[in-house]
Amino acid sequence: MPALIPDRLAALPDVARNLSWSWHREARVVFRSIDERLWQSVRHNPLKFLDQVSAERLNAAARDPRITAYYDKMMDWFRHEQSGAGTWFSQQWPEHAKKPIAYFCAEFGLHSSVPIYSGGLGVLAGDHCKAASDLGVPLVGIGILYRAGYFDQRINVEGRQQDTDVRYDISLTPISPVAGPGGVPYLATVSTFGRDVRIRAWRLDVGRVPIYLLDTDLEENHVDDRPLLSKLYAGGPALRLRQEWLLGVGGVRVLRALGIEPQAWHANEGHAAFMLTERVREYVAGGMSYADATAKVRSASTFTTHTPVPAGHDQFGPDQIEQCAGPIWDEMGISKDDFLAIGHHPVIDHQTFHMTATAIRLSRRVNGVSRRHGVVTRDLWTALWPGRPAEKVPIGHVTNGVHLATWMANAIMQVVDRSLGADWGNRLDEPGTWDKIMAADDATLWFAHRQLKESLLNIIREEARRSFVAHSLEAPQIVGAGVMLDPHVLTIGFARRFATYKRANLIFRDAERLKKLLTDSKCPVQIVFAGKAHPADHPGKDVLQQVYQFTRDTQFEGRVAFVEDYDMHLAHLLVQGVDMWMNLPKVPLEASGTSGMKAALNGVPQFSTIDGWWEEACDGSNGWAIGEAGVVDDDAETADRLYTILEKEVVPRFYTRDEKGIPRDWLTMMKQAMRISGQFFTAHRMVEEYARDYYVPSMTGTGSADDPPTG
Ligand SMILES: *Cc1c(COP(=O)(O)O)cnc(C)c1O
Repeated sequence: MPALIPDRLAALPDVARNLSWSWHREARVVFRSIDERLWQSVRHNPLKFLDQVSAERLNAAARDPRITAYYDKMMDWFRHEQSGAGTWFSQQWPEHAKKPIAYFCAEFGLHSSVPIYSGGLGVLAGDHCKAASDLGVPLVGIGILYRAGYFDQRINVEGRQQDTDVRYDISLTPISPVAGPGGVPYLATVSTFGRDVRIRAWRLDVGRVPIYLLDTDLEENHVDDRPLLSKLYAGGPALRLRQEWLLGVGGVRVLRALGIEPQAWHANEGHAAFMLTERVREYVAGGMSYADATAKVRSASTFTTHTPVPAGHDQFGPDQIEQCAGPIWDEMGISKDDFLAIGHHPVIDHQTFHMTATAIRLSRRVNGVSRRHGVVTRDLWTALWPGRPAEKVPIGHVTNGVHLATWMANAIMQVVDRSLGADWGNRLDEPGTWDKIMAADDATLWFAHRQLKESLLNIIREEARRSFVAHSLEAPQIVGAGVMLDPHVLTIGFARRFATYKRANLIFRDAERLKKLLTDSKCPVQIVFAGKAHPADHPGKDVLQQVYQFTRDTQFEGRVAFVEDYDMHLAHLLVQGVDMWMNLPKVPLEASGTSGMKAALNGVPQFSTIDGWWEEACDGSNGWAIGEAGVVDDDAETADRLYTILEKEVVPRFYTRDEKGIPRDWLTMMKQAMRISGQFFTAHRMVEEYARDYYVPSMTGTGSADDPPTG
């Protein structure tokens, strides 16, 4: 039985049911202050917390003036947010402030307590929604409720990744069912594989932005159709195709059933491309010609592509399309071949239906996610505009950004308060706001950083201890889990998906040279790794195994650790608690990268190959860069430069201290990292660009002339 909530704190359950608590610092303090141990052990899930917290703790909190003061501040903000008053968007475009913008994405990474995401794409979509809420952009998200989540990661003694299902209790998430018309539990029906599948929707509130999550687990559905949407990126292409079909077609139909009439539509990645074909079908069913319907859908649509890696672009065989979608073309007034032609890839394979090609053909506004990725994407898709030079291909870019209030630690925010003035949250994009961070007091910033680092290492050790008990680990595994990490040692973080192009193993290329760095008696270095390999990515799993084996190699003296089960919770701790962030993607395969931005906001400089966002961000003051922009690099050469920069620049800068033990030059770099990321690489800047250059022109039909592909 959950304890009764005291009247003085009566709104806590309401606050917990809207994810905006997670990016509000007073709310984070309130939950933590009531019972810090419990808050930690429920991994910051406020609903689980309220389910388990004791009446004594709650009553004590209700009498504690420090906590109630935070509570009152939290409630002021909560009410203000609910009122929707005076936002950036409503001031810029009052006439559009109530016109919904539909945002489709196969995954949303909003908080670790809602495990419906796998990685970068989802977290980016989550940050997009949060910034849209802050700015009053009238976004409505459409996604999928994966009841079995993404997988939990355990590494066995051989270093092989074991993928286990996540089981989570929906009642302990802020997701609630949406009733269908007349009390039926579903809102829409989509036909696939010869059967009607009923779709229900769940609602998740992200500040002012609702996200509707689709689900087919209903008694009304055939048993084989009930688990169609239960797992993220699992199963073979046939299942994947059906998930994408249900997301796109079902998503549009659910919006219609809810009476939501979007004036602009955004397909975030190709998984959502059937949202576009469905809208063509609607117009044709309403009496319009196919050509007019296509033009109409194009004019209101934005498509964002997120990777140049071929495996990131789904394609399906014509038979699969026929089974999944047939005979939808009849309702669109076209033949099956015409339908397949929408997804025709002009170069790679004339037989397949390509989701990215589909989305490009049906969206007037198309973009990549960094300046470099814009160049790479135009190059990749010139064939759709035959005879054009790549630079004339009408694909733009909006560089990704991260949601500052989600990713910046409270302790760092307090330092920023002192330098930028208390209301800096409202002046994020004014030029010059961030310059003031350069005058922040070194000792204060260093102390805040040291505390975050200690707290990270304490949590890693605690997890290792727990794992030792739960799984009877052997000694080398405990070392590999990080028990020997030392808070005084320069700590490098490397956490991301274990795709081979990210090259997590590059730093082990010359084990002797690395060993010298790690085990130096005066200026040692330690590295913390985390990340999952996609369940079907066997080369990725091999790299993970290699890295894992290095963590137990005695020659490295316990200075390399691998922390299991990388998720948003662990990502927070890592980007806030390490000294330097490392990223070594093979150029030009990293479209943007975002974890380095999260680190930079916390004063953690990045060391990376020049790709994605780093090409725009690195000016030598805020981190280190290897290689040349846009030039495919050689592994051996990059590794060699990596060691040299670590030996000659990173390590000396970190260990050069003044008489008070403060690394002055390192702190200058920390502040530059904060200044540049705070000014240019936030989700607020990103969403403002989407609103101004993509959404509003979609609503008004303005902007440059439509320039559809002809190939
Ligand atoms: C930010 C984030 C990512 C993406 O990081 P990249 O640098 O783009 O690889 C992946 N997973 C989680 C949990 C994240 O928070």
